[in-house]
Amino acid sequence: MERLIEELRKLPGVGTKSAQRFAFHILRSPTEDANALSSAILRLREQLRLCSVCNNITDIDPCIYCSNRGRSARILCVVEEPTNINSIEKTHCFNGLYHVLHGTLSPVNGIGPEQLRLANLWPRLEESEAEELILATSPTVEGEATARYIADEAHRRYASLRISRIATGVPAGSDIEYADEVTMTRALEGRRTV
Ligand code: ZN
Repeated sequence: MERLIEELRKLPGVGTKSAQRFAFHILRSPTEDANALSSAILRLREQLRLCSVCNNITDIDPCIYCSNRGRSARILCVVEEPTNINSIEKTHCFNGLYHVLHGTLSPVNGIGPEQLRLANLWPRLEESEAEELILATSPTVEGEATARYIADEAHRRYASLRISRIATGVPAGSDIEYADEVTMTRALEGRRTV
């Protein structure tokens, strides 16, 4: 029991109380449920890995996006986490390739460029036919700092590469009356001709 609580406590956002609750729940639940949970964890580690090209989580290497010849290698979209790919895919607006960082720069948490999965981004830009790099990190302090860092580094290394940042601004379906200054400023800066 103690061992399980100790392991559960390592999960993000799980404190001792929650870990104990989970452990007791597992203890009381049917054997099949406990088996299903443990085998799901084992299979996750056995069958899933990171794509050697884009760092997406995958069961085949290269992943379904990198191995899809119907997708354009001219545009590369940089995202923070593998789940961000789903959000972009749902729009059906993007047919390029991805690059997953697995985090953002965060000096206070000791996360520098070396902790992000950037090492395999530079050779990709060098060897491939990439013409544009879209920086689709979140509009948070960390996300902006990460985008800035990658933009500076990419400009320095590949002068001809077009580097863009996703637009941010007023959310769809909302009233601009409630938009804060930063959001409104970005909405104005990111305006486009109609
Ligand atoms: Zn991939």
